[in-house]
Amino acid sequence: MSTTHACDVLIIGSGAAGCTAAIYAARAGKTTIMVHGMQPGGQLTITTDVENYPGFAHPVQGPWLMQQMEEQAAHVGATIIADTIIEAQLPEGGPFLCIGDSGDHYVGKALIIATGASARWLGLESEKKFQNFGVSACATCDGFFFRNKPVAVIGGGNSAVEEALYLAQIASHVTLIHRRDSLRAEHVMQQRLFAHEKISVIWDHVVDEFVGTDAPPSLTTLNLKHVTTGVITPLAVDGAFVAIGHVPNTWLFPSLDKDESGYLITASDSTKTNIAGVFAAGDVQDAIYRQAVTAAGTGCMAALEADRFLATHGL
Ligand code: NDP
Repeated sequence: MSTTHACDVLIIGSGAAGCTAAIYAARAGKTTIMVHGMQPGGQLTITTDVENYPGFAHPVQGPWLMQQMEEQAAHVGATIIADTIIEAQLPEGGPFLCIGDSGDHYVGKALIIATGASARWLGLESEKKFQNFGVSACATCDGFFFRNKPVAVIGGGNSAVEEALYLAQIASHVTLIHRRDSLRAEHVMQQRLFAHEKISVIWDHVVDEFVGTDAPPSLTTLNLKHVTTGVITPLAVDGAFVAIGHVPNTWLFPSLDKDESGYLITASDSTKTNIAGVFAAGDVQDAIYRQAVTAAGTGCMAALEADRFLATHGL
């Protein structure tokens, strides 16, 4: 039998944005429910050392940091529920109804969307075939399976470099494959990568095909294509980690305005969406900064704006 959970402020997503929104909404005396889906804690739970979140002199572990944020939200009175929202009904001004795959209904007078973003894939047929059989988008989740084996990382941003550095502690060798001849990762990360004796970089190449055995599927080779000459070069690897960015989790919200990449559009200097009473915080609305600390900042803004919305409308 399904249950209806009603509250003042309903938050979907439990990453840095969702947890911060929950802390501020609960501390403002609002009944607050935070629903977390398939990846409680968001992207920080699949990262390792975090050394740029203020307040910690030494690196902390991403999963630990998220556990602390969630406990802090619970400690100040937010209710945290594990369920995956599969439908959202967003009438102008609310109340807003979200339905979980448990069948439960969640009703909020204000809604904060903090559903984050998910790993982007290359989109090759062969990538699908070897997903979980050598191809992964999470080094901290799957790196363990490639102890003393050669692996590759695809991408040139901070994620790719971070994954390569992490994997170099486990694998026999890491090859970073990038489609251009320079990385977009931060300078300090690049320096660490280039200095690492177990990491090499192949520039100006993309993966043309993931190749391996069939039964059971097991990755053995990447066929790499030079971006200008088209020449294919095989690279023997046991594992390949795709780290080419993220896509915002916004498919649940067809009635909300989005940019061409699918990020929710919020008003200038605000977390307000185009529907009154619905606010968006964190990576789901941030195509530019995408940092834990900026996600936390917009989570705070969303809770303050939700509080004002409730007060203004006598809710
Ligand atoms: P980014 O968007 O920064 O980088 C994606 C990389 O993948 C780019 O190098 C891009 O190439 C490449 N790429 C994209 N599509 C393809 C494709 N189809 N084929 C081959 N290569 C492709 O994403 P990240 O996930 O690295 O980072 C996202 C955000 O999170 C950033 O703001 C980053 O700073 C932040 N971050 C911060 C960390 C930290 O501070 N510790 C750790 C991880 C992420 P090209 O360069 O040619 O566009």
